[in-house]
Amino acid sequence: MRVYSLPLRTRFRGITVREGVLLPGPAGWGEWSPFLEYDAAVAEPWLRCAEEAAAGDWPAPVRDTVPVNVTVPAVGPEQAHAIVLRGGCRTAKVKVAEPGQSLADDQARLEAVRDAIGPEGRVRIDVNGLWDLDAAVASIPVLDRAAGGLEYVEQPVATVEDLARVRRSVDVPVAADESIRRAEDPYRVRDLEAADVAVLKVQPLGGVRACLRIAEDIGLPVVVSSALETSIGIAAGVALAAALPELPYACGLATVQLLESDVVTEPLLPVDGALPVRLPVLDESLVHADPDRVAHWEARLAEVRALRQDRSS
Ligand SMILES: [Mg+2]
Repeated sequence: MRVYSLPLRTRFRGITVREGVLLPGPAGWGEWSPFLEYDAAVAEPWLRCAEEAAAGDWPAPVRDTVPVNVTVPAVGPEQAHAIVLRGGCRTAKVKVAEPGQSLADDQARLEAVRDAIGPEGRVRIDVNGLWDLDAAVASIPVLDRAAGGLEYVEQPVATVEDLARVRRSVDVPVAADESIRRAEDPYRVRDLEAADVAVLKVQPLGGVRACLRIAEDIGLPVVVSSALETSIGIAAGVALAAALPELPYACGLATVQLLESDVVTEPLLPVDGALPVRLPVLDESLVHADPDRVAHWEARLAEVRALRQDRSS
């Protein structure tokens, strides 16, 4: 195994460095990069995703490019405008409800994004569960108007019960993201009729084939999103997006530019608003980590393997 440690261009999820493991197999490399606070039980499906990739056990693609969104952080309108133009995507995901900012800040950002992306572009907002029910029901129509029409609102509230309540109270479609973290979660979202769209990430849900099964079972349109992987891990998300029978929305897989560098010869970056469906090639000279971080990840991997042994005995 190889351990990587890459600085982020800007702080994300409270971290400034992204770390993970690359595992070799007959088909190439798989990425295992559960966030540091996750215990062995949570990190185990992430390992299944890496093993599936390394084994080359992916379904055949039904498309050769995957449309992706540009992500607009909670910045001012001018910067938001510039990010959308630079991104070259036909869909923008805009962060709103940033602590310390007002609804007027979100309105101004959305107006700027609509101006930059044009009338045909699609605009979605991501709340990361930061509103309460009342704030969600009051804010969504306001931001829908500011954006000149929203494609959907992602995780407007924290719990799946409240998500269902919001969905019944507003006209804008609702997407579940943070409400889907473990393999059983998408079924709960479906059973409570809590969302119109499911955001799926291949590592936490146990790999490409596991996600395809979930997508088929829940009968909701899927947006494939990253867990901030290197291009090796992003390729697994691309494999899922490429294999889904229907892909009505742009995916959240254009995230390698959030890392200061990558571990492959040609990173999976969007061209004309889409990622190519191809396997990136690892450049082992780009994979580095301090010895103490390597030891940390070796111990972590051993812990997950020990957990599996316990479960199977
Ligand atoms: Mg999200």
